[in-house]
Amino acid sequence: MAHDDNPRPHGATCGARTRNGGRCGHPPMAGQRRCRHHGGSSPQAKQAARRRLERERVSAAIRRLGIPVEGGADPLEVMARVLNSAARDLETLRDAVAEVEVYDPDHPVVSMYLEAVDRAGKLAKVAADTSLAERMASISEQNIRTVADAVRRALDSVEMDMATRQRVLNAVARELRSANAA
Ligand SMILES: [Zn+2]
Repeated sequence: MAHDDNPRPHGATCGARTRNGGRCGHPPMAGQRRCRHHGGSSPQAKQAARRRLERERVSAAIRRLGIPVEGGADPLEVMARVLNSAARDLETLRDAVAEVEVYDPDHPVVSMYLEAVDRAGKLAKVAADTSLAERMASISEQNIRTVADAVRRALDSVEMDMATRQRVLNAVARELRSANAA
């Protein structure tokens, strides 16, 4: 993975060589290393910047849930993995809860289940808020299906208003259609 792709930290300057041998002191464009005069306004640069900013947004959303995203990790892959394991946890815990005779929220199994439900709900909301369809280009079809299945299973286990649920399912459907068309 080329580290050249990383945008400069906030407050940095473009730094391109100028005709008089100095360095450009303009601020880089959002999500980019260069300013508008030094390649930052080309369509490719803008598209790459959009993708980079979207990834940063997804990373930030995942980190807010307390899930680490390591330096070079693809936040979309992290998301797919985490959603899948959240759905598996839910299934396991749901079976365990079924064996608890009295529904007691303080029972360790029940409270673990309620935490897992809460977590799956938050993850499903992140999936809805981060426009899955736009991100399909960088995620394999297998992972898309994993995400779609996990989202569906998470939604089945979580109280969610119909509009949000429909938004998630629409995004997943769009993504699957795009993946099939590719
Ligand atoms: Zn510049």
